[in-house]
Amino acid sequence: MFASLSDRLTATFKNLRGKGRLSESDVNSTIRDIRLALLDADVALPVVKRFTSSVRERALGAEVSQALNPAQQVVKIVQEELVAILGGQTRTIRFAKQPPTVIMLAGLQGSGKTTFAGKLGKWLKDQGHTPLLVAADLQRPNAVTQLEVVGERAGIPVFAPERGNMGGHDAVLGSGEGTRSFGDPVAVSQMGIEQARAKQYDVVIVDTAGRLAVDANLMQQASDIRTAISPDEVLFVLDAMIGQAAVETAQAFHEGVAFTGVVLSKLDGDARGGAALSVAELTGEPIMFASTGEKVTDVEVFHPDRMASRILD
Ligand code: GDP
Repeated sequence: MFASLSDRLTATFKNLRGKGRLSESDVNSTIRDIRLALLDADVALPVVKRFTSSVRERALGAEVSQALNPAQQVVKIVQEELVAILGGQTRTIRFAKQPPTVIMLAGLQGSGKTTFAGKLGKWLKDQGHTPLLVAADLQRPNAVTQLEVVGERAGIPVFAPERGNMGGHDAVLGSGEGTRSFGDPVAVSQMGIEQARAKQYDVVIVDTAGRLAVDANLMQQASDIRTAISPDEVLFVLDAMIGQAAVETAQAFHEGVAFTGVVLSKLDGDARGGAALSVAELTGEPIMFASTGEKVTDVEVFHPDRMASRILD
């Protein structure tokens, strides 16, 4: 996904090679090139500004290493700042002391939430956990079936409301076209967690409803679920292909559901993706997983340092 950004940065650093000492104008022109490369890759402007100003400060400052030539020092500074923007340390799921650990998934429709639910379930199962998927996306009748298919493929059980008796409620959420729910997602989420407790599943993954765009009803519903189930983690699934819209979508979800981590999906795509790379810096929440395809195994833990190396290689 970041091939073009990577090529641009490599070309920029090539210009520095062989220089014995970097003048202030060498540093400035390098920083200008980096700035343009990041902006062209869709990295959010405030992130680019902060990034380039720390690189400039450090590159012109007194950081002198005997072991590296000036060009290598600039590359090292850029690498470290990129790791910082991507969240610094690797962080994955924090498990509850008292099982079950409850993980809620939120994000726009089509972001890859349901697919990720299966991937996360499989990832957990491979580590010896016993996850249960809960179908709390009751906006679209198909969503429940889709989660059941995903669960079956991943070999993970799914708790879904009975048809005709969707959580014992027949709630109508909001008003207008497409906002009629066919069940109460809060009740279904709670029942799923009860079921996990009763049957001793140690992790519950709650799939919630998405919309094609951020809207108040969706956010209220997700927020109500969050309040009712007090999840240990709320993971925001973000389609890296949506470009610039990633930034405002992430900010809206951060305000609406106070997510605790980000999943970048569709990183196998060829869009510019830089907006998604801005999300950790803009929200202060870590990117935990990268989703890289449609198969249940196409998922990896997101390591800021490895991603930075990949981009700068
Ligand atoms: P949801 O509406 O958020 O639950 O999204 P889905 O999980 O249904 O995914 C929407 C579409 O994106 C489906 O066609 C998935 O197969 C596809 N998809 C999900 N994750 C990935 C990914 O990491 N890479 C690619 N290429 N496609 C993905």
